[in-house]
Amino acid sequence: MLRPILRQALVLAACALGLALPAPALAQRYAGPLFDAHLHYNEEAWMSEHPLDDALGRLKRAGVRAIVANSRPNDGTKSLAAAREQAAAAGLTVVPFVRLYRNRADYGSWFNDETIYEMVLRELAAGTAAGPYRGLGEFHLYDSANANGPVARKLMQLAQARDLAVLAHVDDDAIDKLMAHAPQARLIWAHTGIAGVPVERVRALLLKYPRLVGELSYRPGLTGAGGGLSDEWKALLSAHSERFVIGSDTWINARWAGYESLMADARRWLADLPEAAARRIAWDNGAGLFGLAPP
Ligand SMILES: [Zn+2]
Repeated sequence: MLRPILRQALVLAACALGLALPAPALAQRYAGPLFDAHLHYNEEAWMSEHPLDDALGRLKRAGVRAIVANSRPNDGTKSLAAAREQAAAAGLTVVPFVRLYRNRADYGSWFNDETIYEMVLRELAAGTAAGPYRGLGEFHLYDSANANGPVARKLMQLAQARDLAVLAHVDDDAIDKLMAHAPQARLIWAHTGIAGVPVERVRALLLKYPRLVGELSYRPGLTGAGGGLSDEWKALLSAHSERFVIGSDTWINARWAGYESLMADARRWLADLPEAAARRIAWDNGAGLFGLAPP
């Protein structure tokens, strides 16, 4: 242990040093409401570390005012939708989507599986306590050729016919294939190309499909050192700020545990955009897709 007088001298020296150093530049942060357009409340979350109160508390503390909820199985979304009083107290709107997966095995076969299509029809008919389902997905295609699977085609056509949005984790080739099935569908491209599809290809797809929207979780190259936007993404998001949304992708419990810092990261890079563009990507575009009132 240090003698008291020596400790006091060290404290004084530290204070003097602190005063002498310039204050570190505080990064700007977008401070408005957030619409999380890619949220899962899977059974491993609600069955263990993140029961409903915990999950809703994290959303509230992060300033998230609406979520696209899609969960494996759909019970997680239904429990969020049924928690109407708690959601209202948290100022949260739940936009439910039908997940295509009953279990992990369904990830690799849903596009050929008629029982998935039947399950989707049953879920749509039943709806949720927060109202009808507003979309389908998230679904995954690890091989874009499976975008031509019979159930993938039928689900895209169903979404178009019923004006449901679709949240799809796919590559750029699959975007073309899915849109060929249903050119008027509202497709939300989860991660906007998680394998790092070049920005110019993203731009071309946005121009080709006016109803395509890019969701930005896990997007490689979006941010650089310090958490700010990269130059090419700053240019793309500034030019097409009406075409992007943010998401958390809480696919594992670690994403729930880090939820507030994920949203803080988004607030950091959003602040690199003009204020109106940041607000569109953070809130307005998601709210507009589903007709939500301002928070
Ligand atoms: Zn996801």
